[in-house]
Amino acid sequence: MNLSLVVPCYNEEGNVEKFFDLVTEVFEGKLEDYEFVFVNDGSKDDTRKKLKELYNNKNSRNNIQVVSFSRNFGKEAAIYAGLSKVKGDVVCLIDADLQQRPEVVLEMLKVMSKDEDIDCVTAYQEKRKEGTVISAVKSMFYKIINGVSDVEFVNGASDFRLMKRSVVDALLQMTEYHRFSKGMFSYVGFRTEYIPYVVAERESGESKWGVKKLIKYALEGIFAFSTMPLKISMFVGILFALLSVCGFIVSVFLPSATAISTLLVISSLFLVGGVILVFLGIIGEYLSKMYVQGKNRPVYIIKEYLNNEKNI
Ligand code: UDP
Ligand code: MG
Repeated sequence: MNLSLVVPCYNEEGNVEKFFDLVTEVFEGKLEDYEFVFVNDGSKDDTRKKLKELYNNKNSRNNIQVVSFSRNFGKEAAIYAGLSKVKGDVVCLIDADLQQRPEVVLEMLKVMSKDEDIDCVTAYQEKRKEGTVISAVKSMFYKIINGVSDVEFVNGASDFRLMKRSVVDALLQMTEYHRFSKGMFSYVGFRTEYIPYVVAERESGESKWGVKKLIKYALEGIFAFSTMPLKISMFVGILFALLSVCGFIVSVFLPSATAISTLLVISSLFLVGGVILVFLGIIGEYLSKMYVQGKNRPVYIIKEYLNNEKNI
């Protein structure tokens, strides 16, 4: 069996060589046939230079591919590009920052080899590293998205996963522009085993996930895998229409209008107007996604591809 490691890299100049060395060391004597598919996602630091050095100097086994994007397209695009280049029968997605240890990859391989029916092994964080607030918000996100979506999202499951060629082929068939891996893995199905893992500290550099990016990511997931928000707008619309009918009926029995009731009328106008705007926004969100998809733009653009045809 040969293994391809897909490694998305964005500003990881301090990590890529350490990552390469650690994987090589851990796999030594345990696994022979494996390759690295590094995807440099338009890094602004010297990641591209470091990857090129790796490719030129440490590629004695011909097991390194380097894809460099023309700009930053995001981790999802990097994963997609990496998957389209892999040559192995089994593929593992792993971060470049050494938070996901190569020892766990060997564990995943062991789990997969136990039963030929297992197509995918996913590592999940038993204990989240972040603070209780972020952790609670993330749990709430999973509750919401599982409530409104047809596919299942597993709380804590990461992108750190091992999968067979058949799963990779299925993912490559999904050519959508707005990619949300967690949903796509569930969507394609296949038998998945989950193993717990502990996230290590980042070796160098910093996480690219600020609060703003996380919120955007969560909304991306909901809009990509559920049309429920569109339906909610209909229900809320009906509810408001019924409420206003009630209001009219009640107003018939009220004494003469006062300043307070005028204020109430104005507030309710604002409320209704606000709700309409919110749902116009929701419709706009889906429309904009269709607009971007309709333009059929590529998910990523490659600036350079280093690939020795002899690898595995
Ligand atoms: N990454 C990427 N493109 C981006 C952001 C991140 O390729 O736009 C890569 C990054 O280099 C790392 C992995 O995705 O290898 C996970 O990113 P990060 O460590 O920032 O996320 P965290 O571990 O904090 O969830
Ligand atoms: Mg990280």
